[in-house]
Amino acid sequence: MKVRDAVSELEKMYPLSLREEWDFPGLVLGDLERECRKIFFALDPTIDTAREAAEWGADLMVTHHPLFFRAVHLIPSTDPHGRSAAILLRAGCALWAGHTNVDAAPRGTNEALCARIGIFNPSPIEPEGFVEGAPAGLGRIGNLEREMSLEEFAKMCRERLPKTVQGVKLAGDPKMAVRRVAVMSGAGDSFLGRALESGADVFLTGDLRHHPALDFMQKVRSCGRRMGLVDVSHFSSEFPWFDFAMEDVKKRLGGEAECRLSEINTDPWAEVFI
Ligand SMILES: [Zn+2]
Repeated sequence: MKVRDAVSELEKMYPLSLREEWDFPGLVLGDLERECRKIFFALDPTIDTAREAAEWGADLMVTHHPLFFRAVHLIPSTDPHGRSAAILLRAGCALWAGHTNVDAAPRGTNEALCARIGIFNPSPIEPEGFVEGAPAGLGRIGNLEREMSLEEFAKMCRERLPKTVQGVKLAGDPKMAVRRVAVMSGAGDSFLGRALESGADVFLTGDLRHHPALDFMQKVRSCGRRMGLVDVSHFSSEFPWFDFAMEDVKKRLGGEAECRLSEINTDPWAEVFI
């Protein structure tokens, strides 16, 4: 099997057409004709994870976050992204990033987050067609198995998601009952309006800033609604994707390539003092 075959399967699972306009997922670098025996998965293509992939002898590295978020003109190895690129190119390892296309796809980051937390029958909040018969689109909304307090829900998120020092924060009345959950993995700022319109009892997302969260809670009150907000780290909201990605890639490639997940937690924060 060639890198080309692995990339082609990835892009059937996570079609690039599902990407947001500003996003450019796909093959970032590497040789499509190279034999592909080892596939390495990591959330971020950092210098450390690129080194981890190279040392393992990976032929293809699959990440969620792209190496470059904006157009670049220079990639010297003095630049962190240039350095990651140099490590991978030297090792002959290709890099494929699946970003907003993976957020929107069935069994992508949002559905993996729902599965990890126990949010059943998730459907896209913003439907965008189907992939291999399953609905695609941004965000997910689904139900918990039973009603619980917002506080209990937030603690369940803490238990079931990868640990990061930020922990889990909630806004709203901790005692309010929640059952219907809107979800947006990664940074959910831009999705707050749609989460409010979705009719959910709580919005679970990551990486929320002061003003968007404050405005959201004020809007909830001013429209006479009761709704909670649960904020987890960006890393822990997206990492569960690998539960699905590794299983699906192994299955689809018929065991022709060995798969391994990075052991590095790329959450940037090391300590929180409260
Ligand atoms: Zn992200």
